[in-house]
Amino acid sequence: MCAFDFDGTLAPIVDRPDEATMTDRTRLLLTRLAALYPCVILSGRSRPDLLKKLGGIALARVIGNHGAETGHENPQVRSQVSRWKAAVELGIAPLPGLWLEDKGLSLAVHYRQTEKKEEARRLIESVTRGLHQVRVIGGKQVVNLVIDGAPNKGHALVTERERLNCQTVLYVGDDDNDEDAFAAEGDVVPVRVGRKRKSHARYYLRSQEEIDRLIELLVLLRSPDEAGAACEEQRRRKLAEHALASQ
Ligand SMILES: [Mg+2]
Repeated sequence: MCAFDFDGTLAPIVDRPDEATMTDRTRLLLTRLAALYPCVILSGRSRPDLLKKLGGIALARVIGNHGAETGHENPQVRSQVSRWKAAVELGIAPLPGLWLEDKGLSLAVHYRQTEKKEEARRLIESVTRGLHQVRVIGGKQVVNLVIDGAPNKGHALVTERERLNCQTVLYVGDDDNDEDAFAAEGDVVPVRVGRKRKSHARYYLRSQEEIDRLIELLVLLRSPDEAGAACEEQRRRKLAEHALASQ
């Protein structure tokens, strides 16, 4: 089974999250991969938002809200999150550039658009400190507020691996909220986009653009004809280079 985060992993990070999108090439490769392996997407986005971004690809499961949103509603979680919302909105109002995203089962406070990063982080920390049943997960210029004890990406990964009857899962992510998945129990191959010393990921890609190369390799591993053709092409190129060098 192959599992991926979305932002910063399948799609480049952009200033406005609603504008994030996969390149045509990544979309094509993911479509091919999903025909060869069970593929799951685990993102901090809300599930409806994610489904719009991934429309048309035959994925085994799309899970939103950091692992908590599988398509089965949880009204208690939703009402707890809506109780936080008013307090957070009021708390962050004094600092322009901060904005709150309501994802139903979690909240995200974005501070990419303010110059005062340190002040923003301090303000968000003080606002979230008083919230009931909250787990705070940092991210790239965003602070995520999820229900403490709600399924995280690690739980979701293990549940999907069992449901899909797979032994090994390759998981690719780029951020702090992917650490639960990197550290999930059982046979997990954790790959981080960008190296980080204290990460649980044992492998890494140097940049988001390298995701295409990784997916391409996974496709080749399950497509003997294409793999054979790629090897043959490489052999021919080497022979041609050798012939040129000896002239
Ligand atoms: Mg990400």
